Amino acid sequence: MTPTALVCAGCGWRLPDGDPAVLRCPAAIAGDDIDHVVTRVLEPSRLSYPTGTEPDPFVRYRTLSHAYHAGRAAGLSDADLVALVERLDSAVAEVDGRGFRETPFARSAELSDRLHFSATGGVWVKDETGNVSGSHKARHLMGTLIELEVADIVHAAQPAAEPAPLAIASCGNAALAAAVVARAARRHLDVFIPDHADPVVVTRLRDLGARIEVCDREPGVPGDPTYARLLDAVAAGAVPFTCQGNLDGLAIEGGETLGWEIVSAMVASGRSLDRLFVQVGGGALAASTIGGILDARRLGAPVDLPRLHAVQAEGAAPLRRAYDRVLARLREELGPEAGSGPLDLDDPRAAAVLADAARHRSAYMWPWEAEPHSVAGGILDDETYDWLAVVRGMLASGGFPVVVDEVTLVAANDIARESTGIDVDHTGSSGLAGLLDLRGRGLVGPDESVAVLFTGVRRGPASPPSGARTGDRS
Ligand SMILES: [Zn+2]
Repeated sequence: MTPTALVCAGCGWRLPDGDPAVLRCPAAIAGDDIDHVVTRVLEPSRLSYPTGTEPDPFVRYRTLSHAYHAGRAAGLSDADLVALVERLDSAVAEVDGRGFRETPFARSAELSDRLHFSATGGVWVKDETGNVSGSHKARHLMGTLIELEVADIVHAAQPAAEPAPLAIASCGNAALAAAVVARAARRHLDVFIPDHADPVVVTRLRDLGARIEVCDREPGVPGDPTYARLLDAVAAGAVPFTCQGNLDGLAIEGGETLGWEIVSAMVASGRSLDRLFVQVGGGALAASTIGGILDARRLGAPVDLPRLHAVQAEGAAPLRRAYDRVLARLREELGPEAGSGPLDLDDPRAAAVLADAARHRSAYMWPWEAEPHSVAGGILDDETYDWLAVVRGMLASGGFPVVVDEVTLVAANDIARESTGIDVDHTGSSGLAGLLDLRGRGLVGPDESVAVLFTGVRRGPASPPSGARTGDRS
């Protein structure tokens, strides 16, 4: 038995000990309406929270990955596994000019003053714009790649005549991250993009060797056509190299490095966060960040759980719709106060509601009906694929979703860039829009410490026009 396990959060399927890691739940049946997500779970009695200071997060936090323990169980040494990560990181640096290093996380005095926080409180900014490929997305995919590479070694995969390609649906940061990481590992990548993808991004994808297929949106057909095409490719044998936990559960594990970096910084500073605002499109970023903090706490890291606020644009807010439905069910079971503070998810009545939601996905999450538009094009996913993990994170922490209008999204980006000097795009600063909204409504006090994630760098000199559907998917 390894100290980590891969378990489906929807149906309970569990990877047999010693079997190769999987990205998707093999028990999923089309149309079963179960929210299958392969989730890496930790055994707290056999692990401790890493306190190393290695600059590469995939080295520092290696003992929290399933790949590490699968490798050790198969006879690889700690040094072997560090060397594997470092070899991949060097290859990434060759492709992108930089490898994975802890990204900056600090209180911004100017931003805190601008939002009228006191010296006691303030706004902490996690700056992902200088990360590999210019956004947080590469974290998700590097984590997945390490799992795939270790699985190949452990299970002595023979090089096939025609190895299965990696595949992703995206028009922005996720595709760029996938292309960089796939290129570093010399794996083929198919990218499904919409017909309005940014030509600069498409050119870069081609330069990185990705194969590109343009997918048109058909009138009257709901849902993202690139995602539908991706599902076809996966059904035909492609490896889902995506930032959607339902297709690639281990992308969430890779993204947890972001949460762990925040935890380590807070522990080192002796401070704690009251709230965490995370922009949500597909939901993997929020699921990873809060998941990393929850895992760290399970392993005894001395860090408080901040209230999680998932931030969506008015143009597409399927997560709030799902949250409201779950909350209504909880209030039927637990009373009208449920959800007004942190909720004990182990309470049998709450656990029953959440387990029922996982088995009746379509009653909570379905594609946004209208074609969504926002200046923050990267959070316009038709569905919040990782909705249930994000809803659970909000309930456990006493947070709630925030839906912001376009004026606030534009203002947040102006304030972000003016106050911090970070050249973040509108999608990347959309979590800050949620903070602006709650601060403006008096729901966040001046002495609170809050964190936002600036996730993607602006590409090109011009901001994307309002209404364009470009950028990354968060
Ligand atoms: Zn399952």
